[in-house]
Amino acid sequence: MKLRLGRQGRRAVYTRLAEKALGRPLHRDEVVHHKNFDPNDNRLENLEVMINRKHTLLHSQQQKYLRAVAIERARYQWQDDIFWSRLAKINFSEIAA
Ligand SMILES: [Zn+2]
Repeated sequence: MKLRLGRQGRRAVYTRLAEKALGRPLHRDEVVHHKNFDPNDNRLENLEVMINRKHTLLHSQQQKYLRAVAIERARYQWQDDIFWSRLAKINFSEIAA
């Protein structure tokens, strides 16, 4: 015989933690957000209950931010590569002489 877990059993750990802290079940429009964007960090101070629409917006902003950071990083990485290749061509014993 298979044990039925029901709705509650299948809910994410962080959802249950947030509901326990709130003292009420989450509304249909509410979701639990991980403030540091680490879904494995279920410390209560990392959890925030927010409206689904706001949450979706927040994550799309985070994605845009991460893309911008990746572009900047690639730009500087490129500069670094030039820097190191130039540095490698310098003969320091000649300069010192
Ligand atoms: Zn989130």
